[in-house]
Amino acid sequence: MKIGVIGLQGDIAEHISAVHKAMREENISGEVVWIRKAEQINGLDRIILPGGESTTIGKLIVKAGIDVALREVAQKGTPIMGTCAGLVLLANEGDDHVVKTGQVLLGLMDIKIKRNAFGRQPESFETDLDISELGSRPFRGVFIRAPAIEKAGKNVQILAKFEDKIVAARQKNLLVTSFHPELTDDTRFHSYFLRLH
Ligand code: GLN
Repeated sequence: MKIGVIGLQGDIAEHISAVHKAMREENISGEVVWIRKAEQINGLDRIILPGGESTTIGKLIVKAGIDVALREVAQKGTPIMGTCAGLVLLANEGDDHVVKTGQVLLGLMDIKIKRNAFGRQPESFETDLDISELGSRPFRGVFIRAPAIEKAGKNVQILAKFEDKIVAARQKNLLVTSFHPELTDDTRFHSYFLRLH
């Protein structure tokens, strides 16, 4: 299996090591590739769009032509996981601020997102989440200036909520989290993504 992590800005190395760990645990052989160019996108079995600053990542992926390549493979069914800023980028609708600033959205998933949905105080926190797809043991959610999903279309499966806000969801081959599964030792979310079909 060949997994690409879009690596222009954000927590790229953390995702690469989380994928390696999940592959070992799931007994999946293959490679993880740091993606910097659009030409590297074709032929990937899985793609991760990491957290970071969604406005910056948006500008950089457009400059590199990665936005076009991602839309193409997403429509063909390649599984893509977006975490935090990656969730923002996959959405088809943003909050007023996103609209006003005209920041880039890939528009692939039928969700409306709100950036920094948990306010400035506290900007970052951790909490246990119940995610039934991962089993009965809670999953530690690490939230860093996290977005939330305000509205989801009917073909979107809600995987986790925190304080009535949707913080993890799936739409066919697309998987998103408000939190950072790559910043915990628990690889269940990455394993779930590797097994997605
Ligand atoms: N608030 C950031 C954004 O909207 C996301 C933060 C993160 O990825 N940790 O771009």
